[in-house]
Amino acid sequence: MELGATACERPPLLEVKRNLELKTALVKASSRLPLPGTRLKRGPDQMEDALEPAKKRTRGLGAVTKIDTSRPRGTLLSTVSQTQGPAAAQKGPKKTGLRGCTTVGPVLKNQKPAPAVPAQKPGTSTAPMVVGKRPGKRPAWDLKGQLFDINEELKRYREKTQKLDKENQGLQEQLREAQEQAEALGTERNTLKGELASVRTQAEQSQQKLDTLCVRVLELEECLGTKERLIQELQRGQLELQEERKALATRLEEQERRLQTSEAALSSSEAELACLRQRTAAQATSLAEQGDRLHGLEMERRRLHNQLQELKGNIRVFCRVRPVLAGEPTPSPGFLLFPHGPAGPADPPTRLSLSRSDDRRSTLTGAPAPTTRHDFSFDRVFPPGSKQDEVFEEISMLVQSALDGYPVCIFAYGQTGSGKTFTMEGGPGEDPQLEGLIPRALRHLFSVAQEMNGQGWTYSFVASYVEIYNETVRDLLATGTRKGQGGECEIRRAGPGSEELTVTNARYVPVSCEKEVEALLQLARQNRAVARTAQNERSSRSHSVFQLQISGEHAARGLQCGAPLNLVDLAGSERLDPGLTLGPGERDRLRETQAINSSLSTLGLVIMALSNKESHVPYRNSKLTYLLQNSLGGSAKMLMFVNISPLEENVSESLNSLRFASKVNQCVIGTAQANKK
Ligand code: ADP
Ligand code: MG
Repeated sequence: MELGATACERPPLLEVKRNLELKTALVKASSRLPLPGTRLKRGPDQMEDALEPAKKRTRGLGAVTKIDTSRPRGTLLSTVSQTQGPAAAQKGPKKTGLRGCTTVGPVLKNQKPAPAVPAQKPGTSTAPMVVGKRPGKRPAWDLKGQLFDINEELKRYREKTQKLDKENQGLQEQLREAQEQAEALGTERNTLKGELASVRTQAEQSQQKLDTLCVRVLELEECLGTKERLIQELQRGQLELQEERKALATRLEEQERRLQTSEAALSSSEAELACLRQRTAAQATSLAEQGDRLHGLEMERRRLHNQLQELKGNIRVFCRVRPVLAGEPTPSPGFLLFPHGPAGPADPPTRLSLSRSDDRRSTLTGAPAPTTRHDFSFDRVFPPGSKQDEVFEEISMLVQSALDGYPVCIFAYGQTGSGKTFTMEGGPGEDPQLEGLIPRALRHLFSVAQEMNGQGWTYSFVASYVEIYNETVRDLLATGTRKGQGGECEIRRAGPGSEELTVTNARYVPVSCEKEVEALLQLARQNRAVARTAQNERSSRSHSVFQLQISGEHAARGLQCGAPLNLVDLAGSERLDPGLTLGPGERDRLRETQAINSSLSTLGLVIMALSNKESHVPYRNSKLTYLLQNSLGGSAKMLMFVNISPLEENVSESLNSLRFASKVNQCVIGTAQANKK
């Protein structure tokens, strides 16, 4: 049995099973055991069978009694053999025996003794023979003898009858005892039957209980199986948890060790920190002192820088001659000369000599045309081989002045194709070497502003880019639907009573890095390109003004400074040949040229008026001077690039440009004042 196999593993269940087995065994055993007070060795079911032999015995006894009491066997046999001979004697006992048997029952029941030989006729019987003695046959005449024999015989029968009566009495006694015993056994049987019934009921109940218990055992076994599986799972889980706990304990120990180490390190660090704090406090004090000193030095630097610029002149003129481009005729040697300064070749050139042949004189004399040399002197002259970075180096100090709070204006003046745009914006393509003054100046500003940040100065920059064509202002940073169109831009004061000027409808874009500036220059190029499709070569016929409003603040000291930096690519300065006959389409060109010439000469006049400290400065005579009025004169610093073509064919325009520039170069505008608040 399965229970037996697992008994040792689950004692409680085994107990239940054992009890059940024991009970079953007891029930079976009780059915086999004799009940108290009985001597039966059989089961209750066999009780009747057990009783049967007793009955049979009783009945058998009854039959014997009947036979014995009805007739004595030996006597009867001997009587027959004597009276009827051997043949009759053989038949006789059968008849009498049968007859005796059929009559015994009622005799016994009624307790009436039957006559010994009722069927025998006295007449037919002869003198009885004494069986034991076998006397010889008496003669017929010996009646006396015969009577004697008969009496003797009768006497023996009487004795025998008495003996049989006694025997009969004994047997009846036995019968009575047997009947009593049978009655007792009957009673006992009934009792046993009752007990058997109750035992059966008990057995049935026990069976039912057993069945219920079996079902319960099955349920419990099932439940036990489930629980065992659950226990196994739980044990597995417990093992896993124990493993995890071990790992965690190990980690905890490790962490604790590290914590201890860290705490030790922390305490030493705290000591170090305290020490460092003291040193920091001392350094902060010294830093503050140094900051004060630095600020003083910065102020001194600004003052000296400005003094230097003033010594160099608030109006400076640089002359730049572009190289001969591929496909252009090489000018004759000596056409343009760049004489050394007093310090020799190491001295940066400041002079330029241009020779011009007088064609009219050669025609008159027939001799080769004589050449006239025209010498010019400027603050700096850049020969054709000069690189963009060299040029910028010379103006970087001016850009610094803009950061220090002085308005700065840088112009590029010259005929179309002389290199103004190349100087201002840069050459074609992405070559960083060819970058012009605008991207370089802004990069320089951003970098210096960053350095000044360390000294407590915060700078911000806002850019705008407009062009003035035919005395109309157009935004070069326009986007969307306004892109490439003239747009209605007007120069207005920023507010009533304000000195600041602003261009309506123009975009003012905050910039803080080179990429943003590059994007703006790209946008301006696109806008010019769109315009060029409508009006040919307009870019060279208009002034492009890149304005950067610089604002600086030293919050800690409550200082502010701000100034505009203007980088102006002027329209081509070439004039129309007065002798030229103009077609209908060229009338517009004439108007354009007159407008350009007018605005350029106004610029010259404004500079002159400022130089001569005249009361009236004709700013309003052109949009350009009107827009730039806050960056010209007074505290402003101005630099003019005069761009010159190296070609002999442009000599006339080159001379005109150089003469204009020379006039400007002679101007001195009063001491510049920084716009400090
Ligand atoms: P402008 O703006 O005065 O009309 P550009 O700047 O457009 O003249 O110059 C005319 C041409 O000469 C351009 O192709 C330009 O690349 C080239 N150029 C001008 N200056 C230089 C220079 N310094 N080095 C090389 N090429 C130059
Ligand atoms: Mg140009």
